Amino acid sequence: MSTKLVIVGTVALDDVTTPFGSVLRALGGSAFYGGLSASYWTSVGVVGIIGNDYPEEGLNVLKGRSVDIRGIQRSEEKTFGWTGEYTYDMNTAITRETRLNCLLSFNPQVAEHYPRPETLFLANIDPDIQGRILDALPVKPPLIALDTMNYWIESKKDSLLRVLKRVDLLTINESEARMLTGQFNLVLAARTIREMGPKVVVLKKGEHGALVFYEGGIFASPALPLEVVKDPTGAGDSFAGGLLGYLTAHAHLDPEFLKQASIIGSVMASFCVSEFGVEGTRNLSSELISSRLREFGDLTGFRKISYEERRL
Ligand code: AMP
Repeated sequence: MSTKLVIVGTVALDDVTTPFGSVLRALGGSAFYGGLSASYWTSVGVVGIIGNDYPEEGLNVLKGRSVDIRGIQRSEEKTFGWTGEYTYDMNTAITRETRLNCLLSFNPQVAEHYPRPETLFLANIDPDIQGRILDALPVKPPLIALDTMNYWIESKKDSLLRVLKRVDLLTINESEARMLTGQFNLVLAARTIREMGPKVVVLKKGEHGALVFYEGGIFASPALPLEVVKDPTGAGDSFAGGLLGYLTAHAHLDPEFLKQASIIGSVMASFCVSEFGVEGTRNLSSELISSRLREFGDLTGFRKISYEERRL
């Protein structure tokens, strides 16, 4: 099967502490989480870089989901590493340390392996790298999505603004949307971002779900109220993987598909946060996904009523 969705981002080893435990050198990274999640919905290839300390298990997890890993380069330096912490406010990750390591010499060869992806997801990574990838592609893919974070907004805002002009869809956390635009109000922040380039803005609000802003409307996709939330790391990338996997498989960006796709994003994020690292998403059965989809149906389904129907 040819690869329809290409995801470029970090393949990482994460040290994460939450109120419910901690993990060291856990498999992670934006492209890793995104690729794993998308693999349940479409054919996906991951483009990234790993160091000489990267465990073979990480690649086996991707291969086990039939993710195309030809675009993962190996470096003689150390793997990109992130140390993060969550307090009881599990919506906000506190970055303790970012070790760029081999990311500093990453020169992704997207066009070489995938000259014509249907969807390109520039997951969270250096915006200069994101821009270079677009420069090198012979044809603009039908759908280009981008994700970023506070680290890059603070350190490379000009590069980020340049690449934003060239993408169709942005996924971003609420605090990062505020940081990027200087607008506290999220509706105004989303409007400002849409004026910067992307026609569709997906605002991720952690346990409060996501808001999807598109031409002519806003859609709210809830997060599933879960009794057990262990580790929010990767929730955003899992959300994006589900959203884009679904959009790619249906080859549409119209509002109806966007709404379905954002629910798929919430479904995948709900699996991610229930365990540490990729334990929640690495091995999902179709029965589990179907039953989670039904739970979302029950959570959100309501019959539209008109005011005239009220009983006095
Ligand atoms: P999220 O889905 O937003 O929770 O992203 C989690 C992943 O982002 C972790 O697995 C990290 O390895 C990765 N990450 C952290 N900082 C950065 C960064 N500055 N650039 C790219 N990826 C990062």
